[in-house]
Amino acid sequence: MLRAVTKLNLPSRKEVAADWKADGGRIAAVYPIHYPRELLRAFGVLPMEVWGPPGTRTASGDRHLQAYTCSIVRGGLSFLLDGGVDVADLIVVPHACDSLQGMGSMLIDFVDERRPVLTIYSPRGGSGVTRIDFLNRELAAVFEKLAEIVGEQPSAAALREAIDRETKADALLAQLLSSRRRIDLGERDFYRLVRSREYLPAEQFTRIVQGYLTEPLGELDDRPAVVISGLVPEPMGILDAIEEAGGRVVGDDMACSGRRLYGEGSSEDPLRRMAERLLSAPPDSTRGAEIQARADHLVALAAAGGAKAVLHFLVKFCEPELFYLPQMRPTLEAAGLRSIVIEADVCEPLPNQAVTRAQALVETLR
Ligand code: SF4
Repeated sequence: MLRAVTKLNLPSRKEVAADWKADGGRIAAVYPIHYPRELLRAFGVLPMEVWGPPGTRTASGDRHLQAYTCSIVRGGLSFLLDGGVDVADLIVVPHACDSLQGMGSMLIDFVDERRPVLTIYSPRGGSGVTRIDFLNRELAAVFEKLAEIVGEQPSAAALREAIDRETKADALLAQLLSSRRRIDLGERDFYRLVRSREYLPAEQFTRIVQGYLTEPLGELDDRPAVVISGLVPEPMGILDAIEEAGGRVVGDDMACSGRRLYGEGSSEDPLRRMAERLLSAPPDSTRGAEIQARADHLVALAAAGGAKAVLHFLVKFCEPELFYLPQMRPTLEAAGLRSIVIEADVCEPLPNQAVTRAQALVETLR
């Protein structure tokens, strides 16, 4: 028996921001994808992420961007220009791709002096100690900038405490995703829970998720199952489409969630440990991962969840993702996995054609 459907009761972003500020904390509006949550938190800064957001009118950002810029950047810039992140004391823009890098440079010109913009560059491709050295230096530079903004520095003990808090939350997110087939939440609610990691303080996220994982888990759900791969499951209509067709997402290769399952790291030095953690996540297009590593990861996710298909749910004009698709397909086919590509705009409703294609995919898995 699956346990009874639980009503998901999450605090809203506005509530979380208001509580944090009432306690004297600062807030950072953070753009995708990889950044050191623990470093911000050690300085008393709560990261609240901006992925679009859905439904944003993009006119004010569109004026400054090329027409083929993705909706994460068009929406994110418009949201900021229209006052959507006014609660934030600083802006963080990781250099996930050329579009975000361009936006980071642009924001440095737009934003007033009271709200500084920090950029973070993650190493692309390669492996081993050189990447860790590079990111370690990058994080040291971010540390200095944060110290300037906040006016004080956290102790090594405070940094370690922040690392432990985020490591625990990451481990629980991994457990939540891998337990998906036994958790009786609808697709939309499950992803609301997963994505609350984007704005809840880690300790609050941990408490909420522990509540779901400590109750007895239900029996394995045997509905047709798919792996979803891409940046972010927005518009969330894609999840409704899968569920309404009788299917379920059991494997997550999304940049907002499954590609941010950071490991523990081992260095005694806090900044180096943060760098190790950030680089330990599953393969990601925006970090120049090997094509074969990404394809193998998708096959492994499908095998672990019992999925027979991969739905590549892409943000329109997302070059890093588009580059990989044709080259991963032979590995997916050899593993007996069907795959389809659906492109969407995070700021607009999901087109009917996309709904039909997602539902047709689920139908073929029966
Ligand atoms: S959707 Fe793709 S192109 Fe757009 S910001 Fe994300 S990684 Fe960059």
